[in-house]
Amino acid sequence: MEIKITKTTSPKAKPDQNNLGFGTYFTDHMFVMDYCPEKGWHDPEIVPYAPIALDPSAMIFHYGQAIFEGLKAYRCDDGKIRLFRPINNMNRVNISNDRLCIPQIDAEFGVEAIKTLVELDKDWIPSNPGTSLYIRPFIIATDPFLGVRPSATYKFIIILSPVGSYYKEGLNPVKLLVEKDYVRAVKGGIGYAKTPGNYAASLKAGEKAHELGYSQVLWLDGVEKKYIEEVGAMNIFFKIDGEIVTPELNGSILAGITRDSSIQVLKSWGLKVTERRISIDEIYEAHACGKLDEVFGTGTAAVISPVGELNYDGNKIVIGEGKIGETAQKLYDTITGIQSGKVEDTFGFTVTL
Ligand SMILES: *Cc1c(COP(=O)(O)O)cnc(C)c1O
Repeated sequence: MEIKITKTTSPKAKPDQNNLGFGTYFTDHMFVMDYCPEKGWHDPEIVPYAPIALDPSAMIFHYGQAIFEGLKAYRCDDGKIRLFRPINNMNRVNISNDRLCIPQIDAEFGVEAIKTLVELDKDWIPSNPGTSLYIRPFIIATDPFLGVRPSATYKFIIILSPVGSYYKEGLNPVKLLVEKDYVRAVKGGIGYAKTPGNYAASLKAGEKAHELGYSQVLWLDGVEKKYIEEVGAMNIFFKIDGEIVTPELNGSILAGITRDSSIQVLKSWGLKVTERRISIDEIYEAHACGKLDEVFGTGTAAVISPVGELNYDGNKIVIGEGKIGETAQKLYDTITGIQSGKVEDTFGFTVTL
């Protein structure tokens, strides 16, 4: 499919690279492609970034039939622009689509669309250390209809946002509140799909955590509220007595691409990495006998996020004296090094434009 390009006639001023934050600024263009049963996915276009007109009865507004993705483009010191495992994101679109009854996309074409859009707006990719261009592909159901069924028509849109360094002063460990009342997802539900509904379900617990001074929630399983799931936009890893353990992909957690990359990198160092069910009690017991070496989250936004404190039902534990552990630091340096072209990519993770 040929991507038709209509360039903006009024380019916007670029934001100050030192104050980008996350998801606040958007580039000059966006990618849009429509779906209807007769034509399939058709008319891929890049157009000036602008509001989209939708019927108020469009199904997305009523029943949440939508999916999204998140990845980044990096401006590297060698002059190249790198993407990190974009085909994995596009394959995950199809996993989410399947669960949400949205028609499959051509994953390779999705990567082409990302590359074409990023190339057109490449002047927006910031260059300060730690900054990048966040890429947000998403699909929404557009039938103007209030009955409950899958939509027949959809829009696939990609927008771009220059984002700042997640860590302004080094990798600061985060504090997590272990949530014992609210749940994010259950097995058989939509937890493994990257879909807005999971985020809607998480907001209330997130607000509660913020009020108590915690930056994020650590979710437990939706049935017994005993086993550790994930952090909601990050997967979670523990280093217990030298071994790395992370919750297995059980159907209610998201299969993070940073999670998979981290497992590959950790194994390449000869570390033992086990994906299995982990109870919150086991973590507290490991801590009590001095065996909980490290805790860290993995996700596109922060890459690696060390965890310095957990609070489960009022019982607080401090991990690694609240400082980043050596494994998390080395993993962060390696993955961000590969993304920025400073560390040789022996894993084949990166794609240049
Ligand atoms: C996106 C996301 C992650 C992290 O996935 P990455 O591919 O590593 O960015 C983890 N959990 C949830 C619920 C997510 O939506």
